[in-house]
Amino acid sequence: MKPLAILFATSEMAPWVKTGGLGDVAAALPAALHRAGHDIRVLLPAYPALKKAFPTAPAVAEIPALAPGLPACRLLAAQDGGLPLLLLDCPALFDRPGNPYLDANGDDWTDNAIRFGLLSRVAALIGQAASPLAWQADVVHCNDWQTALAPAWLHYEGGAASVVTVHNIAFQGCFGRDTLGVLGLPEHAWRFDHVEYHGQLSFLKAGLQLASQLSTVSPTYAREIQDEHFGYGLAPLLRHRAGDLRGILNGVDTGIWNPATDPALAAGYAANRLAAKRANKTALQAEMGLEVCADRPLFGVISRLTHQKGLDLLLTVGAGLAQLPAQLAVLGSGDKAMEAGFRELAERFPGQIAVRIGFDEGLAHRIEAGADCFVMPSRFEPCGLNQMYSLRYGTPPIVRATGGLADTVVDVSADTLDDKTANGFVLDGDTPHALWVALERACQAWHDKRLWQRIQQNGMRRDFSWQQAAADYVALYRDALAPRH
Ligand code: ADP
Repeated sequence: MKPLAILFATSEMAPWVKTGGLGDVAAALPAALHRAGHDIRVLLPAYPALKKAFPTAPAVAEIPALAPGLPACRLLAAQDGGLPLLLLDCPALFDRPGNPYLDANGDDWTDNAIRFGLLSRVAALIGQAASPLAWQADVVHCNDWQTALAPAWLHYEGGAASVVTVHNIAFQGCFGRDTLGVLGLPEHAWRFDHVEYHGQLSFLKAGLQLASQLSTVSPTYAREIQDEHFGYGLAPLLRHRAGDLRGILNGVDTGIWNPATDPALAAGYAANRLAAKRANKTALQAEMGLEVCADRPLFGVISRLTHQKGLDLLLTVGAGLAQLPAQLAVLGSGDKAMEAGFRELAERFPGQIAVRIGFDEGLAHRIEAGADCFVMPSRFEPCGLNQMYSLRYGTPPIVRATGGLADTVVDVSADTLDDKTANGFVLDGDTPHALWVALERACQAWHDKRLWQRIQQNGMRRDFSWQQAAADYVALYRDALAPRH
């Protein structure tokens, strides 16, 4: 079949700018589609990290001011190992240090409507006959609210087919009504079944309403977001578009997340060479200031510390861990009260509980490898990457049965051990007690070395490569291009 011309529009891309799973997906999925022979280009803001990584990237297009509130900008062309990148260069909007969405105080940048309005507008333009490049996309693939407004222009003015992928529906990009004119959208777009959402303009709602096809990052989350409890107000719209919505489980970048070759680790290991994993536990205990011992399991956490991730449950039962006995290593940042709670826990149990507040890619790899078991009791989890990394690293995860966690983690039971799918522990409910029971079950299983090895190997042997997901996205693009029903 004919290769597709795809524009992948994103507000983050690992390793340069990453706040969560979208950054990893943006690094891996376009690369997989590129390898599959498609003509794909990634559009993202020329943040300082990208300017630094590609200092000589030439300007390939000058784009004039496209609306009263949108400044002129240009596109720089770069290549990431053969994958073409288009960097949206507008220093007034993107040349800022730190988090791509938040200022130094942790508040949203006040001009985010303009910043990501421009990103969305340019994404749409590259899918239109007026594309400033000698290239026009057949499909514009938008990701989360920051690029989800692009389908609006494609809908009103014509152009490429569009896809919106929801990586987290809790973030919706809502701004005042005046944003409509500021971004140059037509007055008639102000309808509840177009861009208007409870008196505001919502980027995400606009995209979910107007894109040709929709997806999210796991089959279970695709069902859940049609339910009021998970849909953050958008469930009715998603039920209305259920026929155009599918869940495609993210893959894992198996080059970066491979315990046999991971340069961050003290020792490489594999499913048939598990003994070498122990050296990573010892090294992690030493690095985190934990007592170096082999007689108790070490639980690991790598997470944004937010209500979504359910780590308040762990804070509630954390004091019991030392008595189990077990150890805990936490890496994360976010909610200040939660950060303080984990710090306090570590102070109460020195040598048994250790906490690092911050973002540290290398330490994240070492926790995946050095911990015995990974704790991820999320209240909702669109896909979740860390549980997949844990499975690959022989570090069975403890999860709630939600979203991508439900699609990847199989609770240990007689049946699932028999059919070789058992690979972790699933909470029965969302209470601290449910988490405690799961921690105890994991602890018990860990003491049975043969059982534990079977659970580890089941997880390590599961295929989480991007190949299947990339093929599913191509099918999604082809559906988006098919004449509308
Ligand atoms: P989300 O996107 O909701 O934050 P995911 O599990 O999908 O959750 O992806 C989180 C990604 O961010 C993973 O790659 C994880 O390793 C990484 N990550 C989260 N917090 C940290 C941290 N403090 N340090 C390093 N990596 C982190």
